[in-house]
Amino acid sequence: MTARQQTSWQGELLHHEMMAKHTSWRGGGPADNYYKPVDLDDLCIFLAELPAGEPLLWLGLGSNLLVRDGGLRGTVISTSGLLNNISLQNETELYVEAGVSCAKVARFAARQNLTGVEFLAGIPGTMGGALAMNAGAFGGETWTNVKNVTTLSPSGERQSHARDDFNIAYRSVKGPADEWFVAATLSLTQGDVDAGQIRIKQLLAKRAELQPTKQASCGSVFRNPVGDYAARLIEAAGLKGTCIGGACVSEKHANFIINTGDATAADIEALIEKVAFTVEQQHGVVLQREVHIIGEAGVMA
Ligand SMILES: Cc1cc2nc3c(=O)[nH]c(=O)nc-3n(C[C@H](O)[C@H](O)[C@H](O)COP(=O)(O)OP(=O)(O)OC[C@H]3O[C@@H](n4cnc5c(N)ncnc54)[C@H](O)[C@@H]3O)c2cc1C
Repeated sequence: MTARQQTSWQGELLHHEMMAKHTSWRGGGPADNYYKPVDLDDLCIFLAELPAGEPLLWLGLGSNLLVRDGGLRGTVISTSGLLNNISLQNETELYVEAGVSCAKVARFAARQNLTGVEFLAGIPGTMGGALAMNAGAFGGETWTNVKNVTTLSPSGERQSHARDDFNIAYRSVKGPADEWFVAATLSLTQGDVDAGQIRIKQLLAKRAELQPTKQASCGSVFRNPVGDYAARLIEAAGLKGTCIGGACVSEKHANFIINTGDATAADIEALIEKVAFTVEQQHGVVLQREVHIIGEAGVMA
Protein backbone atom coordinates (compact mmCIF):
# COMPACT_ATOMS: atom_id res chain seq x y z
CA MET A 1 0.00 0.00 0.00
CA THR A 2 2.56 2.54 -1.05
CA ALA A 3 2.22 4.04 -4.51
CA ARG A 4 -1.06 5.41 -5.82
CA GLN A 5 -0.49 4.07 -9.38
CA GLN A 6 -0.65 0.50 -8.03
CA THR A 7 -4.13 1.08 -6.65
CA SER A 8 -7.57 2.16 -7.81
CA TRP A 9 -8.34 4.54 -4.96
CA GLN A 10 -7.93 8.27 -5.47
CA GLY A 11 -7.70 9.76 -1.97
CA GLU A 12 -4.63 10.95 -0.10
CA LEU A 13 -2.63 8.42 1.89
CA LEU A 14 -0.19 9.88 4.41
CA HIS A 15 2.37 7.95 6.41
CA HIS A 16 3.66 8.66 9.90
CA GLU A 17 1.00 11.36 10.34
CA MET A 18 1.13 13.02 13.77
CA MET A 19 -2.23 12.62 15.48
CA ALA A 20 -1.53 15.77 17.53
CA LYS A 21 -2.60 17.62 14.35
CA HIS A 22 -5.96 15.86 14.34
CA THR A 23 -7.07 15.80 17.98
CA SER A 24 -8.50 18.62 20.07
CA TRP A 25 -6.08 17.79 22.91
CA ARG A 26 -3.26 18.59 20.46
CA GLY A 27 -1.34 15.56 21.62
CA GLY A 28 -0.58 12.11 20.31
CA GLY A 29 2.04 10.29 18.26
CA PRO A 30 2.03 9.18 14.62
CA ALA A 31 -0.45 7.00 12.77
CA ASP A 32 1.28 4.53 10.46
CA ASN A 33 -1.19 5.37 7.69
CA TYR A 34 -3.74 8.18 7.46
CA TYR A 35 -6.25 8.08 4.59
CA LYS A 36 -8.34 10.99 3.36
CA PRO A 37 -10.83 9.55 0.85
CA VAL A 38 -12.29 11.53 -2.03
CA ASP A 39 -15.81 10.27 -1.37
CA LEU A 40 -17.67 7.24 -0.09
CA ASP A 41 -17.14 5.15 -3.24
CA ASP A 42 -13.41 5.86 -3.08
CA LEU A 43 -13.36 4.86 0.59
CA CYS A 44 -15.10 1.56 -0.25
CA ILE A 45 -12.43 0.80 -2.86
CA PHE A 46 -9.64 1.70 -0.45
CA LEU A 47 -11.08 -0.50 2.32
CA ALA A 48 -11.55 -3.44 -0.06
CA GLU A 49 -7.85 -3.25 -1.00
CA LEU A 50 -6.52 -3.16 2.57
CA PRO A 51 -4.78 -6.28 3.87
CA ALA A 52 -7.14 -8.49 5.89
CA GLY A 53 -7.01 -7.66 9.58
CA GLU A 54 -5.52 -4.17 9.08
CA PRO A 55 -6.31 -2.22 12.30
CA LEU A 56 -8.60 0.71 11.44
CA LEU A 57 -9.59 3.83 13.31
CA TRP A 58 -12.38 6.06 12.07
CA LEU A 59 -11.65 9.65 12.96
CA GLY A 60 -14.09 12.53 13.09
CA LEU A 61 -12.73 15.75 14.55
CA GLY A 62 -10.69 13.99 17.25
CA SER A 63 -12.55 15.81 20.02
CA ASN A 64 -12.99 12.73 22.20
CA LEU A 65 -9.70 10.93 21.64
CA LEU A 66 -6.41 10.67 23.50
CA VAL A 67 -3.84 9.07 21.21
CA ARG A 68 -0.79 7.89 23.13
CA ASP A 69 2.65 9.27 22.27
CA GLY A 70 3.80 6.06 20.53
CA GLY A 71 0.98 6.53 18.02
CA LEU A 72 -1.29 4.15 16.16
CA ARG A 73 -0.49 1.05 14.19
CA GLY A 74 -2.69 0.44 11.17
CA THR A 75 -4.74 3.00 9.25
CA VAL A 76 -6.75 6.03 10.30
CA ILE A 77 -9.74 6.90 8.11
CA SER A 78 -10.41 10.62 8.21
CA THR A 79 -14.09 11.51 7.70
CA SER A 80 -14.13 15.23 8.49
CA GLY A 81 -14.55 17.24 5.31
CA LEU A 82 -15.71 14.10 3.46
CA LEU A 83 -19.21 12.58 3.90
CA ASN A 84 -20.37 16.15 4.21
CA ASN A 85 -23.93 16.10 2.86
CA ILE A 86 -26.91 17.25 4.85
CA SER A 87 -30.40 17.55 3.37
CA LEU A 88 -34.08 17.72 4.21
CA GLN A 89 -35.77 14.39 3.38
CA ASN A 90 -39.30 15.48 4.14
CA GLU A 91 -41.04 17.90 6.51
CA THR A 92 -39.44 16.49 9.65
CA GLU A 93 -36.52 14.30 8.61
CA LEU A 94 -32.89 15.17 7.93
CA TYR A 95 -30.34 13.03 6.13
CA VAL A 96 -26.92 13.73 7.65
CA GLU A 97 -23.61 12.18 6.61
CA ALA A 98 -20.99 11.26 9.17
CA GLY A 99 -18.48 14.01 8.40
CA VAL A 100 -20.92 16.89 8.94
CA SER A 101 -20.02 18.91 12.03
CA CYS A 102 -22.45 18.82 14.94
CA ALA A 103 -22.66 22.63 14.83
CA LYS A 104 -23.78 22.49 11.19
CA VAL A 105 -26.49 19.94 12.00
CA ALA A 106 -27.88 22.21 14.73
CA ARG A 107 -27.84 25.31 12.52
CA PHE A 108 -29.26 23.52 9.46
CA ALA A 109 -32.14 22.03 11.48
CA ALA A 110 -32.97 25.40 13.04
CA ARG A 111 -33.07 27.04 9.60
CA GLN A 112 -35.56 24.38 8.49
CA ASN A 113 -37.81 25.14 11.51
CA LEU A 114 -36.90 21.78 13.04
CA THR A 115 -36.28 21.37 16.73
CA GLY A 116 -34.55 18.65 18.77
CA VAL A 117 -30.84 19.01 17.94
CA GLU A 118 -30.05 22.52 19.19
CA PHE A 119 -27.84 20.91 21.87
CA LEU A 120 -25.43 19.75 19.13
CA ALA A 121 -24.43 23.37 18.44
CA GLY A 122 -21.58 23.45 20.95
CA ILE A 123 -20.28 19.90 20.54
CA PRO A 124 -17.04 20.24 18.52
CA GLY A 125 -17.26 16.88 16.73
CA THR A 126 -18.81 15.27 13.67
CA MET A 127 -22.14 13.48 13.27
CA GLY A 128 -20.19 10.19 13.04
CA GLY A 129 -18.48 10.87 16.36
CA ALA A 130 -21.80 11.93 17.91
CA LEU A 131 -23.41 8.67 16.73
CA ALA A 132 -20.49 6.60 18.07
CA MET A 133 -20.54 8.36 21.45
CA ASN A 134 -24.26 9.14 21.79
CA ALA A 135 -23.02 12.67 22.38
CA GLY A 136 -25.31 14.86 24.41
CA ALA A 137 -25.63 18.08 26.33
CA PHE A 138 -28.16 20.08 28.30
CA GLY A 139 -30.64 17.20 28.40
CA GLY A 140 -30.39 16.27 24.70
CA GLU A 141 -28.85 13.08 23.30
CA THR A 142 -27.94 12.23 19.69
CA TRP A 143 -29.76 8.90 19.45
CA THR A 144 -33.07 10.32 20.70
CA ASN A 145 -33.47 11.70 17.18
CA VAL A 146 -32.06 8.83 15.10
CA LYS A 147 -34.51 6.95 12.87
CA ASN A 148 -31.99 4.81 10.98
CA VAL A 149 -28.32 4.73 10.04
CA THR A 150 -26.13 3.60 7.16
CA THR A 151 -22.91 1.85 8.10
CA LEU A 152 -19.84 0.52 6.32
CA SER A 153 -18.14 -2.80 7.01
CA PRO A 154 -14.32 -3.18 7.15
CA SER A 155 -14.36 -4.50 3.58
CA GLY A 156 -16.39 -1.52 2.34
CA GLU A 157 -19.94 -2.93 2.21
CA ARG A 158 -22.82 -0.58 3.03
CA GLN A 159 -25.55 -1.71 5.45
CA SER A 160 -28.79 -0.12 6.64
CA HIS A 161 -29.89 -0.39 10.26
CA ALA A 162 -32.93 0.71 12.19
CA ARG A 163 -32.41 2.44 15.51
CA ASP A 164 -33.57 -0.73 17.29
CA ASP A 165 -30.49 -2.63 16.05
CA PHE A 166 -28.48 -0.64 18.62
CA ASN A 167 -28.40 -0.63 22.41
CA ILE A 168 -28.25 3.00 23.42
CA ALA A 169 -27.40 4.38 26.84
CA TYR A 170 -25.73 7.44 28.36
CA ARG A 171 -22.61 8.04 26.19
CA SER A 172 -22.76 4.40 25.10
CA VAL A 173 -23.72 2.82 21.77
CA LYS A 174 -23.55 -0.91 21.14
CA GLY A 175 -24.49 -2.31 17.76
CA PRO A 176 -23.25 -4.48 14.90
CA ALA A 177 -19.53 -5.04 15.56
CA ASP A 178 -16.93 -3.69 13.15
CA GLU A 179 -19.22 -1.30 11.29
CA TRP A 180 -18.79 2.45 11.05
CA PHE A 181 -21.39 5.13 10.60
CA VAL A 182 -21.58 6.83 7.25
CA ALA A 183 -24.98 8.56 7.59
CA ALA A 184 -28.09 8.87 9.71
CA THR A 185 -31.68 9.92 9.23
CA LEU A 186 -32.76 12.18 12.07
CA SER A 187 -36.42 12.47 12.92
CA LEU A 188 -37.19 15.91 14.39
CA THR A 189 -40.25 17.93 15.24
CA GLN A 190 -41.42 21.16 13.70
CA GLY A 191 -40.60 24.25 15.67
CA ASP A 192 -40.03 27.89 15.13
CA VAL A 193 -37.00 29.25 13.30
CA ASP A 194 -36.42 32.16 15.70
CA ALA A 195 -36.91 30.01 18.80
CA GLY A 196 -34.35 27.52 17.45
CA GLN A 197 -31.74 30.23 16.82
CA ILE A 198 -32.33 31.74 20.25
CA ARG A 199 -32.02 28.36 21.95
CA ILE A 200 -28.70 27.74 20.13
CA LYS A 201 -27.36 31.13 21.23
CA GLN A 202 -28.41 30.48 24.83
CA LEU A 203 -26.76 27.06 24.92
CA LEU A 204 -23.51 28.40 23.42
CA ALA A 205 -23.45 31.24 25.95
CA LYS A 206 -24.03 28.79 28.81
CA ARG A 207 -21.19 26.61 27.53
CA ALA A 208 -18.79 29.57 27.29
CA GLU A 209 -19.71 30.55 30.84
CA LEU A 210 -19.22 27.08 32.34
CA GLN A 211 -16.47 25.48 30.21
CA PRO A 212 -12.93 26.40 29.10
CA THR A 213 -14.01 26.28 25.46
CA LYS A 214 -11.00 28.23 24.16
CA GLN A 215 -8.38 25.85 25.57
CA ALA A 216 -7.20 22.51 24.18
CA SER A 217 -9.25 19.75 25.80
CA CYS A 218 -11.47 16.79 25.04
CA GLY A 219 -14.49 18.12 26.87
CA SER A 220 -15.61 16.06 29.85
CA VAL A 221 -13.04 13.40 30.65
CA PHE A 222 -15.33 11.26 32.83
CA ARG A 223 -18.98 10.26 32.57
CA ASN A 224 -21.25 11.53 35.31
CA PRO A 225 -21.95 8.78 37.84
CA VAL A 226 -25.63 8.05 38.47
CA GLY A 227 -27.14 10.83 40.56
CA ASP A 228 -23.99 12.95 40.71
CA TYR A 229 -21.56 14.96 38.60
CA ALA A 230 -17.96 13.98 37.91
CA ALA A 231 -16.98 17.68 38.04
CA ARG A 232 -18.47 18.07 41.52
CA LEU A 233 -16.58 15.04 42.83
CA ILE A 234 -13.28 16.16 41.25
CA GLU A 235 -13.62 19.70 42.61
CA ALA A 236 -14.57 18.42 46.07
CA ALA A 237 -11.42 16.26 46.02
CA GLY A 238 -9.40 19.48 45.70
CA LEU A 239 -8.09 18.61 42.25
CA LYS A 240 -8.87 21.84 40.34
CA GLY A 241 -5.60 23.28 39.06
CA THR A 242 -3.64 20.05 39.63
CA CYS A 243 -1.06 19.57 36.87
CA ILE A 244 1.22 16.86 35.53
CA GLY A 245 3.67 18.26 33.00
CA GLY A 246 1.67 20.47 30.67
CA ALA A 247 -1.69 18.87 31.55
CA CYS A 248 -3.86 20.58 34.17
CA VAL A 249 -7.32 20.08 35.65
CA SER A 250 -9.25 23.15 34.51
CA GLU A 251 -9.96 25.82 37.10
CA LYS A 252 -13.20 26.60 35.25
CA HIS A 253 -14.67 23.10 34.95
CA ALA A 254 -13.11 20.30 36.99
CA ASN A 255 -14.09 17.54 34.53
CA PHE A 256 -11.96 19.17 31.80
CA ILE A 257 -8.22 18.50 31.49
CA ILE A 258 -6.38 21.21 29.58
CA ASN A 259 -3.25 20.92 27.47
CA THR A 260 -1.59 24.18 28.49
CA GLY A 261 0.80 23.98 25.54
CA ASP A 262 3.36 21.24 25.80
CA ALA A 263 1.51 18.34 27.42
CA THR A 264 2.37 14.89 26.16
CA ALA A 265 -0.32 12.25 25.93
CA ALA A 266 1.48 10.54 28.81
CA ASP A 267 1.04 13.70 30.96
CA ILE A 268 -2.67 13.75 30.17
CA GLU A 269 -3.16 10.04 30.82
CA ALA A 270 -1.22 10.22 34.10
CA LEU A 271 -3.42 13.12 35.23
CA ILE A 272 -6.59 11.22 34.25
CA GLU A 273 -5.39 8.30 36.40
CA LYS A 274 -4.50 10.58 39.29
CA VAL A 275 -7.94 12.22 39.21
CA ALA A 276 -9.73 8.85 39.10
CA PHE A 277 -7.55 7.46 41.92
CA THR A 278 -8.03 10.51 44.16
CA VAL A 279 -11.81 10.61 43.64
CA GLU A 280 -12.07 6.91 44.48
CA GLN A 281 -9.92 7.36 47.61
CA GLN A 282 -11.88 10.37 48.82
CA HIS A 283 -15.44 9.62 47.70
CA GLY A 284 -15.45 5.86 47.08
CA VAL A 285 -16.76 6.49 43.55
CA VAL A 286 -15.08 4.80 40.57
CA LEU A 287 -15.25 7.29 37.70
CA GLN A 288 -15.72 5.86 34.20
CA ARG A 289 -13.87 7.57 31.37
CA GLU A 290 -15.84 9.22 28.60
CA VAL A 291 -12.77 9.93 26.42
CA HIS A 292 -11.29 7.10 24.39
CA ILE A 293 -7.60 6.37 25.00
CA ILE A 294 -5.93 4.53 22.13
CA GLY A 295 -2.53 3.75 20.66
CA GLU A 296 0.83 2.75 22.00
CA ALA A 297 2.69 4.29 24.88
CA GLY A 298 6.12 5.68 24.07
CA VAL A 299 8.02 8.84 23.48
CA MET A 300 6.91 11.30 20.83
CA ALA A 301 8.55 10.26 17.58
C1 LIG B 1 -14.67 21.71 24.30
C2 LIG B 1 -15.38 20.37 24.15
C3 LIG B 1 -16.69 20.26 24.56
C4 LIG B 1 -17.35 19.03 24.43
N1 LIG B 1 -18.65 18.95 24.85
C5 LIG B 1 -19.31 17.78 24.70
C6 LIG B 1 -20.67 17.67 25.12
O1 LIG B 1 -21.29 18.63 25.56
N2 LIG B 1 -21.27 16.47 24.99
C7 LIG B 1 -20.63 15.38 24.48
O2 LIG B 1 -21.25 14.31 24.38
N3 LIG B 1 -19.35 15.46 24.08
C8 LIG B 1 -18.67 16.63 24.18
N4 LIG B 1 -17.36 16.70 23.78
C9 LIG B 1 -16.68 15.50 23.29
C10 LIG B 1 -16.77 15.28 21.75
O3 LIG B 1 -16.92 16.50 21.07
C11 LIG B 1 -17.91 14.34 21.39
O4 LIG B 1 -17.75 13.07 21.98
C12 LIG B 1 -18.05 14.16 19.86
O5 LIG B 1 -19.22 13.44 19.59
C13 LIG B 1 -16.85 13.44 19.25
O6 LIG B 1 -16.95 13.60 17.84
P1 LIG B 1 -15.65 13.53 16.92
O7 LIG B 1 -16.08 13.64 15.51
O8 LIG B 1 -14.63 14.52 17.36
O9 LIG B 1 -15.16 12.07 17.25
P2 LIG B 1 -13.65 11.54 17.41
O10 LIG B 1 -13.05 12.13 18.64
O11 LIG B 1 -12.92 11.72 16.13
O12 LIG B 1 -13.94 10.00 17.68
C14 LIG B 1 -14.54 9.60 18.90
C15 LIG B 1 -14.86 8.11 18.81
O13 LIG B 1 -15.87 7.93 17.84
C16 LIG B 1 -15.41 7.04 16.81
N5 LIG B 1 -15.93 7.51 15.53
C17 LIG B 1 -15.76 8.73 14.95
N6 LIG B 1 -16.41 8.78 13.78
C18 LIG B 1 -17.01 7.57 13.63
C19 LIG B 1 -17.84 6.99 12.62
N7 LIG B 1 -18.19 7.67 11.53
N8 LIG B 1 -18.29 5.73 12.80
C20 LIG B 1 -17.94 5.02 13.91
N9 LIG B 1 -17.14 5.50 14.90
C21 LIG B 1 -16.70 6.76 14.74
C22 LIG B 1 -13.89 7.14 16.86
O14 LIG B 1 -13.28 5.99 16.28
C23 LIG B 1 -13.66 7.28 18.34
O15 LIG B 1 -13.71 6.02 18.98
C24 LIG B 1 -16.68 17.92 23.89
C25 LIG B 1 -15.35 18.05 23.46
C26 LIG B 1 -14.71 19.27 23.59
C27 LIG B 1 -13.28 19.40 23.09
